[in-house]
Amino acid sequence: MKAVAVIPKKQNSVHLVEMDKPSIDEVKNRRGVLVEVLRVGACGTDREINNAEYGVAPKGFDFLVLGHENFGRVVEVGENVTEIEPGNYVVATVRRPRGKSIYDQIGEQDFTTDDKYFERGISRLHGYMVEFYVEDAEFLVKIPPAIAEIAVLLEPLSIIEKGLKQASDIQERLKIWHPKTAAVLGTGNVGLLTVMALRMRGYTVHSFGKQSGKGYLNAELCESIGATYDSTDDLPLVESVKKYGEYDLVFECTGYSPIIFDAMQSLNENGILILASVTGGERKTDQVPSDKINQMFVLGNRAMVGTVNANREHFEMGVKDLTLCEAMHPGWLGRMLTHKIEGLENFAQAFEILNNSQKYNAIKTYFEVKAISK
Ligand SMILES: [Zn+2]
Repeated sequence: MKAVAVIPKKQNSVHLVEMDKPSIDEVKNRRGVLVEVLRVGACGTDREINNAEYGVAPKGFDFLVLGHENFGRVVEVGENVTEIEPGNYVVATVRRPRGKSIYDQIGEQDFTTDDKYFERGISRLHGYMVEFYVEDAEFLVKIPPAIAEIAVLLEPLSIIEKGLKQASDIQERLKIWHPKTAAVLGTGNVGLLTVMALRMRGYTVHSFGKQSGKGYLNAELCESIGATYDSTDDLPLVESVKKYGEYDLVFECTGYSPIIFDAMQSLNENGILILASVTGGERKTDQVPSDKINQMFVLGNRAMVGTVNANREHFEMGVKDLTLCEAMHPGWLGRMLTHKIEGLENFAQAFEILNNSQKYNAIKTYFEVKAISK
């Protein structure tokens, strides 16, 4: 069977490999599940691994099969698998509890304190840009057929769900927290999914991007789900609170770290800022009004938290939001799936789009490995 792989630490090494079809016997306790991949998303992480920025091959291999945003159909299950059956749609989680930290041992590997990650398609485990994979049923989340068309968005959404879960857990400190308004910084695919998840929770949502909203699909998507969209060139975030009021929750996913200091100044009393951008550069920011920010955080009991990766419960939360969104705004999520690549063999096309996503106006690029209808 075909798979799309890279040679880790070698730039632009993406290529097709031929692999043996896996068997459910590879998983212990007869808990193996064989899944045929139907769709697999491609994102900045895949681009960065192909740029040799990170990525580690599994033990015994010199290549790493890419792909973490997955969706597939169950073909075969081991005899101790009762919760999933052949024909079911599933999405697999990404990180595995193979580290040494206490969090790995209690199944909270998304909070691991280890430096070595075991993540399918990213680090030490092959990914899902492949025709078939085998996984322990423990790491598979069942998908209702009603959201099959857009379920490839579940993995990126799971990261947001974890951020929002952490926010609500932290805010339990308040005994009563009835957040009303949120700002979402960044309106790429993560930003759009965040806008959606917050709208499904009833927030008034204000989204911000760099681009002018005119003729910008992402801005139109924000507005069509009931959020506002402003370019920070026209309305800087700190100024926006004069128009919209201070935000109970701010979710940052721009990749532009200086904006976090503006975000800190835009929070309401008792509000929470969630940081979700991985900024691997060396940017430094001066002119930060540190006295003001510090005082706001102290006197207003404000909070800030970082979030990465996701666990099974966050995928399950995401299934509910995707299903609710399809019911409330049919077709909205499907409009995010802007660029379909037919077949893994056309991987070069996917990377051309990933490397020039602005030129292509791409929101989500994904492979259709196999058609969803049988
Ligand atoms: Zn991704």
